[in-house]
Amino acid sequence: MFIDSHCHFDFDVFNDQRDELMARCLDHGILGFLVPATTFISWRRLDMLIERYPQWRAAYGLHPYFLKEASLEQVDFLGEQCEAKRVVAVGEIGLDCWPSAVDINVQMNFFKRQLSVAKSLRLPVIVHARKSYDLVLKCLREVGFKEGGVIHAFNGSFEQAKRFLDLGFVLGVGGTVTYPRANKARRVLSALESSAFILETDSPDMPLNGFQGQNNTPLSIPFIAQCVATIREEDVEQITMQTYANLLRVFPKWNEDLL
Ligand SMILES: [Zn+2]
Repeated sequence: MFIDSHCHFDFDVFNDQRDELMARCLDHGILGFLVPATTFISWRRLDMLIERYPQWRAAYGLHPYFLKEASLEQVDFLGEQCEAKRVVAVGEIGLDCWPSAVDINVQMNFFKRQLSVAKSLRLPVIVHARKSYDLVLKCLREVGFKEGGVIHAFNGSFEQAKRFLDLGFVLGVGGTVTYPRANKARRVLSALESSAFILETDSPDMPLNGFQGQNNTPLSIPFIAQCVATIREEDVEQITMQTYANLLRVFPKWNEDLL
C-alpha cells in the first residue's frame, strides 16, 4: 500500500479529473493522501473535498509563500478548523526565503503563532522550508515545539537532517531524487536510517525526471518508491512498509477515522 504524504489534490488543476485520478490511484495501490491546505480560502474547499474522499487526510494552515493575502486574524480560526474531520496535522506552514516571498519577519510571526496552535492541540506539523532550515529550527526552539511532523521536500545536508530527526521530525522525500544530477540529495537519502523519511509527490508540483513541464500526480508515488529502493539498495516492499510505519508514528491520528 502506497501513501502520498504531501499532495495538493484540492488544487483547481485537478477539478476536471479528480474522480478519475482517484480511481486510478486506488487501482495502483495508492490508498492514502495527506492534503495540506495553503490559504484561508483553501480551508473551505478542503473541508468539502474531504467529505467526498474518505482516503484523504487533511492539514490546515497558512503556507508561508502565500501570506500576501493572509491576516493574523485567520490564525485565530486555526484551532477550531483543526477540529474538522480527519485532520492529522497543522500545515502547510514554515518559512520561504525565496526573493518574491513576503518579509521574513512577517513569516516568522505567522509560523510561530501556528506552531503555538499546533503545540496546544498536540498536533504534528507539515513544514515548508526553502533556504530556511536554520531559521525553522530557531522558531521550533523558541516555541518549544515537541510534537514533530515532516520537513516537506527536504533537500538539506545530513547534519541538517539529523537536527530535525532529533526533534522528532521525518523528512519528506519526493521527485527530486529521481534526477540523476541530484547527487547530494541521493547521498543524504542513502545515509539516512530507514525510520527517517516518508514519501510524497507535492502534486501538482515537482514533476519526476522525464516528466518536466507536466502536472505531477499521486500516481508518481510507486516510481518514487522504486527510485528510493534503488538508491538505498533495498526492496521496494521494504521501503513501502517502512515509510507507512514512519507515517503512522509521526501522524498518530492517521487511522483515527477508519477508511
Ligand atoms: Zn505543498
